[in-house]
Amino acid sequence: MNARNASNIAAPWPERQKRILIVEDNLLNMRLLKDLLEAHRYETLTTGDGLQAISLAREQLPDLILMDLQLPDVSGLEVTRRLKADERTNRIPVIAVTAFAMAGDEKKALDSGCDAYVTKPIALDSFLRTVAAFLAPQRE
Ligand code: MN
Repeated sequence: MNARNASNIAAPWPERQKRILIVEDNLLNMRLLKDLLEAHRYETLTTGDGLQAISLAREQLPDLILMDLQLPDVSGLEVTRRLKADERTNRIPVIAVTAFAMAGDEKKALDSGCDAYVTKPIALDSFLRTVAAFLAPQRE
């Protein structure tokens, strides 16, 4: 193969759109997160139900999970613990999204296996930077 051909095949590999599972039971918050992420060219999966979040994560293997910690049935902390205890899903980063802003909550979230913690109302720029950091290719 000559140099010209080599440069032709060096075109960047087309990047797959990253998929984010949004776990949020509040419809307004869900729509905000979904619209924001889709406007930034992420693909989204959505559920407001913790147990369904676990099965969706196993079946769809999203690249990232946004986890509301206050869910109606199983708490987001418990959902995260189950995801992190399962070798099928334990490498998917989980960002806790919560209205709790009490001292100690961040530690609780991190102790449960969350990889990061953001509080509502969401600061859009820093939120998007956090999302992008977890989806950067150098993390593979
Ligand atoms: Mn909630």
